[in-house]
Amino acid sequence: MGRRRLGRAALALAGASLASLALAGAAAAAMLRPAAALLASHAPRRLMPSPPVSRFRAWALAAAVGGPADGPLPPRPQHHPPHGNQPTEDLRSSEAAEELAWLSLKLAYHDWIYYNGDGTEEDSISDAEFDRLEQRQRAIEERFPALRLEDSRSLRVGSSPTPGSTVTHRSPMKSLDNAIKPGDLENFLSRLGRLLSAEDTEEFRLVSEPKLDGMSLSLTYEHGQLLRAATRGDGTRGDDVTEAMHAIRTIPWSLQGERSREQVLEVRGELYLPRRALGSLNAAREREGLAPFANPRNAVAGAIRRQGASEDTASAAGQALRSLEFVAYDVAVDAPIGAALSLAPTQTACQQMLEEWGFPPPEPTVSFLATTAATETGDLLAQLEEHVKGLESLRGDLPFEMDGVVLKLDDRRLQQQIGATARAPRWAIAVKFPSEKATTRLTDIQVSIGRTGALTPVAILEPVSVGGVTVQRATLHNEEFLAALGLSVGDKVLIQRAGDVIPQVLERVESAQSSDGADRGSLPQSPPWAMPSECPVCHSPVQRLDRRHICTGGLYCPAQALEGLAHFASRRALDIEGLGRGRLEQLYTRGRVRDPADLLRLPETEAAAAKGASLADWEGWGVRSAGNLVESIKAVRGRPMELRRVLYGFGIPLVGHSTAGLLAAHFGSLQRFREGLEALRDGVEEGRGRAVADRLLEIDGVGMALVDALAAFAGNTSNLELVDALAVLLSVTEEAPEGRLGVVEDQNQNPLAGLVFGFTGGLESLTRAEAQRLVEERGARVPASVTKTVTHLVAGSGAVESKVAKVRDRGVAVLDEAEFLRLLDLDPPKEVDGRAEDRHGDGVFPGSEASSSSSSSSP
Ligand SMILES: [Zn+2]
Repeated sequence: MGRRRLGRAALALAGASLASLALAGAAAAAMLRPAAALLASHAPRRLMPSPPVSRFRAWALAAAVGGPADGPLPPRPQHHPPHGNQPTEDLRSSEAAEELAWLSLKLAYHDWIYYNGDGTEEDSISDAEFDRLEQRQRAIEERFPALRLEDSRSLRVGSSPTPGSTVTHRSPMKSLDNAIKPGDLENFLSRLGRLLSAEDTEEFRLVSEPKLDGMSLSLTYEHGQLLRAATRGDGTRGDDVTEAMHAIRTIPWSLQGERSREQVLEVRGELYLPRRALGSLNAAREREGLAPFANPRNAVAGAIRRQGASEDTASAAGQALRSLEFVAYDVAVDAPIGAALSLAPTQTACQQMLEEWGFPPPEPTVSFLATTAATETGDLLAQLEEHVKGLESLRGDLPFEMDGVVLKLDDRRLQQQIGATARAPRWAIAVKFPSEKATTRLTDIQVSIGRTGALTPVAILEPVSVGGVTVQRATLHNEEFLAALGLSVGDKVLIQRAGDVIPQVLERVESAQSSDGADRGSLPQSPPWAMPSECPVCHSPVQRLDRRHICTGGLYCPAQALEGLAHFASRRALDIEGLGRGRLEQLYTRGRVRDPADLLRLPETEAAAAKGASLADWEGWGVRSAGNLVESIKAVRGRPMELRRVLYGFGIPLVGHSTAGLLAAHFGSLQRFREGLEALRDGVEEGRGRAVADRLLEIDGVGMALVDALAAFAGNTSNLELVDALAVLLSVTEEAPEGRLGVVEDQNQNPLAGLVFGFTGGLESLTRAEAQRLVEERGARVPASVTKTVTHLVAGSGAVESKVAKVRDRGVAVLDEAEFLRLLDLDPPKEVDGRAEDRHGDGVFPGSEASSSSSSSSP
């Protein structure tokens, strides 16, 4: 229940004035958990999270047609046929018939025990043995097709939906009406008021649930066992994605609780990717040379499409699949309406039931009590609008992407009575948050050069306001991404932005050709855009490496040099304050700073500057900012500098922050690092270079590619000169010498190793992402939401005291912001103007259209 505790906090923050039934549900579920655990110890196989596919599918399909797992225990088969071990080729038809009859009984018997038994049956058999019997049955049937029994499992399996096949939904998965325009919600409420008045209802309850940006999913269970998972598709028919569900932890294969076993039932909900997972997933995809997913929903669809996740668990696709989570919204049962309603008479009861069965609930959920009269006065409207606004403001703090709020009539009998239009139910509406997307025209495609020389195509756009910010550029990632979108200059494109993520082009909405009104067929197709063959900045040849295009100019390339300087000054490297990108560009293009050593020498060069040539005289600088920069550089030179920061600051390919830590621990000092480089320069195949390489390769997390990258860095004389210069300019601290190779858990390196941090409420001096990064840098973990594993909870402003108290009662250390900063050895917040910072979007991805939460009523 600890999962999505942020959501619970949000619930209270949202100012829910009425009884929070969702919390009552959580309490009920918490009481049920121990019972479930007890059950698990007695009947482990039944509660096995993912039964072997072949057997499971066979059973499920048998059950679907009223097969052997249904009803009372079948008779126990006696006497194994004497010829049962003969090769099928040697069987006579009478023997085959006898054995098929026996196999049919045997398989039915063990099916029943497997799914209905309490685990104490003496003659349960292993899954392998069951599979062997099933194969035997198939083999005999193949040889003697005429002997196949009418109720043979093989027939049922033959009719099974295969992965990737289409599934017709038991009842249509209707989408919800969206409230987007002002007035939509008001119209919904007044129509609801009229419909309810017609039903003689004066008082009713509305339930608010988050609308997640994911993929709607329908799960069919029989006797509490997952039979099939299907996507929403067109609402009538979706794709069978049962196999892929093995990887998803929040989808139970066996439902808990008695009520789940009574009938065929269908659970509907949303499959989504937690926001943090999207960040790491996209990082993994970029490492594999794949274009990142533009939003969580695309990531979900992409992961599901790769059904054979178990085969490539290490890949980004496998990772994506395993990161998916499911939240259940609704349940439909194959039963008369009355029976269905008594199972869950309200939406709230339905949520409680789903929790009891083992589904995580949607959070935050809030319940509103209203009268039909209030639908006319505007009071209810105002209350709901305030609620939606409240949730919208919390959107960035939630561990998942919420793109709106779903409001549903709580009473399911009333839902039935009000019914649905052909398109959508009349008793629910999705209130969408304002879009963070916009359509604009692509005016040009340019290329930007990164620190490592990688070329990235950038969309130049007609300026457009998105979520209050004017966007003129958006990333196009790489040549393949561009090709997949089929973009050419002049196209109208859909872009999106959110938080500090670079705006992205999502899709082409109108091609340049068609918008001219010309006949597309008669126009020559403009050639596809291609990466330039030479660097647009330094004109060095562009080399294609894997899927990347790299400028070979190295530090001669001003673009790379500038990116390298920005990296050197960034927070995790030397952390030079007061050095924004614009200033750095001026320093570089005016020749004052060419490399990191020049940057550190600024105090001297500035002091020696001729009158009128001082930074203070430059346009846009002034005495104060020039002075500030000089002072902050002096400060950086004056303070002890961790070796790790310096190694990271070099920007050597593959040397990220954590690898820099490994190298720092390994070499111990800048001097020894330099000696290592010198050795590597001689070649890594033999002699002292080989010795250094071998020792490096002993470090867990260091591979040959990294050794090669270090050797390449060493091969450039100017890099060694830079190391020498820094040795003079900085006071690089000595770390422990060799012998502690690759010990990342070291207390100095990772003072918070082993701790698990959760956050609730807002921090004054840091964003949530920064706070998270700071604790992770120190070796602690931060799960996507506040879970039971959390050892330290940071409660910022607005944290809900009752929730914090609950966590504290569990023995979790609760810190306020000041205590947290002290723990991190951070000073109180300070004002910083425009520092060069390598921000990478590990957080906020925007909401997007549609994929509304599914809703169904009982058939
Ligand atoms: Zn270049």
